[in-house]
Amino acid sequence: MKKGISLRMRLTLITSLLLTLMCISFTVFSIQSANEIFSISEAQSYNMEEPVLVTETEESLNDYAEYGEPVAADADTFSNVSLIFMGISIVIGTLLMYILSGIALKPVRKLSKEIETIDKETLSNRIASFSSGDELNKLSNSFNGMMDRLQEAFEREQRFAAAAAHELKTPLTVIKTEIDVLELEEEPSDKEYIECLAIVKKQSNRMIDLVKELMNLSAVKEFEQEYIVDLDKMVQEIGQELSVLMRDKDIAFNMNLISCKIKGNGVMLKQALSNVVENAIKYNIEHGKIEVIMIRVDKICEIFIVDTGIGIPVEKKTLIFEPFYRLDKSRARSMGGAGLGLALTKEVIEKHRGTVEIIDNNPVGSKFIIKLPIA
Ligand code: ADP
Repeated sequence: MKKGISLRMRLTLITSLLLTLMCISFTVFSIQSANEIFSISEAQSYNMEEPVLVTETEESLNDYAEYGEPVAADADTFSNVSLIFMGISIVIGTLLMYILSGIALKPVRKLSKEIETIDKETLSNRIASFSSGDELNKLSNSFNGMMDRLQEAFEREQRFAAAAAHELKTPLTVIKTEIDVLELEEEPSDKEYIECLAIVKKQSNRMIDLVKELMNLSAVKEFEQEYIVDLDKMVQEIGQELSVLMRDKDIAFNMNLISCKIKGNGVMLKQALSNVVENAIKYNIEHGKIEVIMIRVDKICEIFIVDTGIGIPVEKKTLIFEPFYRLDKSRARSMGGAGLGLALTKEVIEKHRGTVEIIDNNPVGSKFIIKLPIA
């Protein structure tokens, strides 16, 4: 790191410069004023002896010397003393500033030392708050706030990596076990080969889907949001695209839409909304019902997605937005879900300055509400 001039030194130099300028102007002004006073008093002293000066005799010149020289000498002495005093003032002022700025900056050094102790292992450490109520207090509070957010993000990433590894480990273990079992057979039959291959294929497809979903989720971090998106048209398209799935389960799909335009990314938003509607189909009952209702509240477009499915317990309402979280793992897995759909929905909606949550849906089923600011 480039080592620049310290804040303490900078403060001292600036103050010293100011002090020097002020001392010089004050001294110059004093010397000039003193010289004027001396020359007036010199003239007055000389005029007092005017009769002597009427005729410029040798005596009068002696008088001039008698009164004039001490006055000039006094002026010189005053100038010298002023200059010396100026020099001393600047030196003492600079030294004092150096000492005082050191005292004033002591809390900053303390803060910096405390910050230096925080690293990956001590991420939960916080710096002691300054009770002074000044800028340092605000700085330490802001720093602690930033650390809270960073720690949360770091822990979320860790949980995510662990869950992703776990998800990938399961199909890999299944594949390995199948191959090990086949190896144990002295002469495996064609049927056993075919069965093993089918399992390997199924598990590899599962891993491919998982990796695709992971890539989708990481793509959420960088997408453009400069487009105007028609939410009502988007919901209609989603309904059409998923109609095959609904038909399979004989699910009725009703829409009550209003015109809503928002600024964002149509592709990502469609994926986000589609995930919720797809879940409403996946976790619905045969001959169930899905309703999508749109209303406008001030400058917010609210989209309700209501289904008559198995429902979500109150205590799990926030958990289901966590990556890889599934209420019923085996059931969700059999439907091809890795538990990443709603995590992606949440990320996308929040990127559009919106919210997504679950509200009570009596007597059965789930009710999602998505709020997005209108363009
Ligand atoms: P998945 O791919 O498993 O569906 P999601 O992230 O989309 O992953 O959903 C997470 C979990 O939330 C699902 O596994 C399911 O248990 C639950 N869930 C989501 N939507 C609904 C719904 N409409 N009704 C009941 N449960 C739901």
